[in-house]
Amino acid sequence: MKTIFEKSNGVSGVEFEDCCLGDFFPKEILREGSIGLPQLSELEVMRHYKELSDRNFCIEKGFYPLGSCTMKYNPKVNEFLASLEGFTNLHPLQSDEDSQGALELMYKLQEALKKITGMDAVTLQPAAGAHGELTGMMIVKKYFETKGELNRKKVIVPDSAHGTNPASAKMCGFDIVEVKSDEKGQVDVNALKELVDKNVAAIMMTNPNTLGIFEEKVLEISKIMHENGSLLYYDGANFNAIMGWTNPKLMGFDVVHLNLHKTFSTPHGGGGPGAGPVCVTEELKEYLPSPIIDFDGKKYYRNYNIKRSIGKVRGFYGNFGVLVRAYAYILMMGDNLKKASADAVLNANYIKEKLKGTYELPYDEPCMHEFVLSGEKQHNQGVSTLGIAKRLMDSNYHPPTVYFPLIVHEAIMIEPTESESKEVLDGFIDTMLKIAKEIEETPEEVLKSPKTTPIKRVDETLAARQPDLTFKA
Ligand SMILES: *Cc1c(COP(=O)(O)O)cnc(C)c1O
Repeated sequence: MKTIFEKSNGVSGVEFEDCCLGDFFPKEILREGSIGLPQLSELEVMRHYKELSDRNFCIEKGFYPLGSCTMKYNPKVNEFLASLEGFTNLHPLQSDEDSQGALELMYKLQEALKKITGMDAVTLQPAAGAHGELTGMMIVKKYFETKGELNRKKVIVPDSAHGTNPASAKMCGFDIVEVKSDEKGQVDVNALKELVDKNVAAIMMTNPNTLGIFEEKVLEISKIMHENGSLLYYDGANFNAIMGWTNPKLMGFDVVHLNLHKTFSTPHGGGGPGAGPVCVTEELKEYLPSPIIDFDGKKYYRNYNIKRSIGKVRGFYGNFGVLVRAYAYILMMGDNLKKASADAVLNANYIKEKLKGTYELPYDEPCMHEFVLSGEKQHNQGVSTLGIAKRLMDSNYHPPTVYFPLIVHEAIMIEPTESESKEVLDGFIDTMLKIAKEIEETPEEVLKSPKTTPIKRVDETLAARQPDLTFKA
């Protein structure tokens, strides 16, 4: 029975030993028996989670040539630095005075990104590449609204573009116009000229593009766009190919996003966290999300005084832990960033040259940091690109990106990155050649893969839509 008591300080309360839940809740909603939760020891629970983690593939476990995603090695010292107490225990609402170290890091990262991209101002707020695109296109929109050019409703996107490009522009209310690629896998400039008119706000480009090919006519394109009063957006997901060799400013771009989690070494996949800083020219600086981090010669501070700011695009100031990792990586690499890009390009060309006789290479051009094969021939022999991807898993390789970009049939998009040795590349090449031979001889065997993984072939749609995450003893 409950006993209401009066404490000596005058506060009344309930003495719980003497009461039962039935006194508070109606009897009919109370559970009578056990619900059968698994009764497990700590050791059993540890083994369960360890086993689950062992099932995950990661860069520490093997080669991860996932095109477009830049799965390079993420130095462990980055993790150590991001976990320093001064960073992890800092509250985002602490004053500028109390946050000088963190603000300094953010300011200096902004400065480094300005140097790397050639641009004039930076926001660190966006949480991913796609979020950077959205931010960038919001800036483009507000720029034309401010100029009173409300007719500029169209955004041109190449047919090789990543799906997030048209999606981001559309979310800002733009209409998407697709421009075709030419036989070299580059934006068809004549087709572009046909599309350009006074209603075009911008073109969104990736350079090198998603085929891993450098857009050689980018200067001509930026001239056409600027003469039309339009802007150029640079999707920086492929920045790992060009660090220190060229930059989007030199190519004539106005707005740029970077994927810090790709180019600047933060673990990613499975949805983040990431960081997609946006860099702009002087002309667009006053539209950036607020605050940006500034320095008055004595102290670092959050600057909310941005005249035509599009507002905030994220809580607080960005995924700070990712910013620490990226800054550590940039400082550690210094001028070697340039060498990292060169090695990434060399590695991709090496694999491409070794595989191109066996697999179709639709755009036979020197590539940048990645290239796209077609599994068309193997498809005709009975195993599609999906089957090749599954077979690779039996040899402990993460499959490359498949069926993207959309303009290549049975696409296999390979990006080795700079952080792999020649031995690893040779092992992968041998495996790809072996699989092609297997497909010629016994395609039905290849279709049984993966054979060595804990989970075999799954219904991928169902697995994504209705994941079964319950513990089963
Ligand atoms: C990864 C990628 C994006 C999107 O970046 P997220 O950080 O995944 O949002 C955009 N464009 C290209 C070409 C990409 O590879």
